[in-house]
Amino acid sequence: MAPRPHFLVLTFPLQGHIAPALRLARHLLAAAPDALVTFSTAAPAHRRMFEEVQNGGGGGGDGDGDGDGDDGRLELLPFSDGTESGHVSGGDVAEFNGYMASFHAEGRRSVGELVDALAARGRPVSRVVYTLLLPWAADVARERGVPSALYWIQPVAVLAIYYHYFHGHAGVVDEHRRDQSFVVELPGLPTLAVGDLPSFITDAADPSDYFHGVFTTFRDLFDTLDRETPKATVLVNTCQEFEETTLAAVGAYDVLTIGPVLPSGDEAGLFKQDDAKYMEWLDSQPDDSVVYVSFGSLAFMAREQLDELLHGLEESGRPYLCVLRKDNKVKLADVEMDAAALRNGMVVEWCDQVRVLSHAAVGCFVTHCGWNSVLESIACGVPMVGVPQMSDQRMNAILVEHDWRVGVRAEVDGGRGVLRAAELRRRVKEVMGEGEAAAKVRRTAAGWKRAVAEALGKGGSSDRNLTAFVEGARSDI
Ligand code: UDP
Repeated sequence: MAPRPHFLVLTFPLQGHIAPALRLARHLLAAAPDALVTFSTAAPAHRRMFEEVQNGGGGGGDGDGDGDGDDGRLELLPFSDGTESGHVSGGDVAEFNGYMASFHAEGRRSVGELVDALAARGRPVSRVVYTLLLPWAADVARERGVPSALYWIQPVAVLAIYYHYFHGHAGVVDEHRRDQSFVVELPGLPTLAVGDLPSFITDAADPSDYFHGVFTTFRDLFDTLDRETPKATVLVNTCQEFEETTLAAVGAYDVLTIGPVLPSGDEAGLFKQDDAKYMEWLDSQPDDSVVYVSFGSLAFMAREQLDELLHGLEESGRPYLCVLRKDNKVKLADVEMDAAALRNGMVVEWCDQVRVLSHAAVGCFVTHCGWNSVLESIACGVPMVGVPQMSDQRMNAILVEHDWRVGVRAEVDGGRGVLRAAELRRRVKEVMGEGEAAAKVRRTAAGWKRAVAEALGKGGSSDRNLTAFVEGARSDI
């Protein structure tokens, strides 16, 4: 039998990393009928996502929760991060640094063993594909003569910012780190303010910052990419049409835009979904009428913010669906406006966001601008109100508002970082209202939805790039 391309897809155990990695795993399988994929994340997250299916006697399958069967071509195998329960948020800097140190040391050892074990049982890995926070994955692969590719799950513009920061521009950024409006010029990028840059290189460069361990991990990542010869391969979850002009800023790498990598059916995740009542509720709402609100899988909502949000939504008079995660410390019952006062909307702990955004009733997405959320919204043609907070979200919000013109950015209250009710109402009106400007945003969003469909369709830019990547792996065997 001819050798088959086998991709080992590795990811950091966060929902915003796991989702695009699992989706890519499926797309790799679809791109070549003989391809094999092993999907691997840290053991605690693996247990949380797949254990129920495996132990629940759900009838075999691959345990990825989609129940579609893939002829055994997808394997789900955890690696160790040296802990029993993974990273538990709420600790201090030392605790977080300790987790990252354990993740890197144990992860590296454990993934090395995994690659060796797969080879020993006749399923050798032909490409290691890894998401952002596992720089050692490239070293593990290189040590074994296996090519690797970084899977960059943020826009090319953000890849370019990190690249240039770590290649000659750290000094100027560090010097003006506290001056949000200080202007920086980075090659191939529009003029940016320090406040637009990822918080992991502005705030987290400071060793006392909680996320300093993320900063040093990014530094290690760009170091390991420099060790690849002749050039590192970087798959980016974006499409060429989104970021045509920025691609030249990352010419040091072989960049393949392959996104937006969307789910191809139900998928496993770290959070349990509410029952599907919200879909029935959406069915009962008029087209383009519902405001959907979610700040992703990591951000917590303070009581003040939740109060403002719910008041603003109620006062807008528009129906709304709002995600308030179970792990949020402030519960719905704690807010000034309790469940009984919610006349016009619905609050869920977790939903199937892509299904929600695909629903005809949804007319706007109030989002923290996590890159997955932005991609999903654009792919579904839903205009956004951006409320960026940290990491790459500020740059993503600029792309949404200025480059693609598929949304607007809401201002937060300077001192406290809270989105006020009146500002929320005003911004929602700017994308859902009657005026010509709002209609234009909606038309532009519909246009990008078509462009995404083309990029992903047969012969489209992302489809061609993914096929080239898979075939490259085959020709090396
Ligand atoms: N998501 C979801 N249900 C929810 C809220 C979020 O499925 O109720 C998913 C969303 O579709 C996206 C991911 O969680 O794929 C969030 O990733 P993103 O990059 O937007 O933000 P992060 O969680 O990393 O901050």
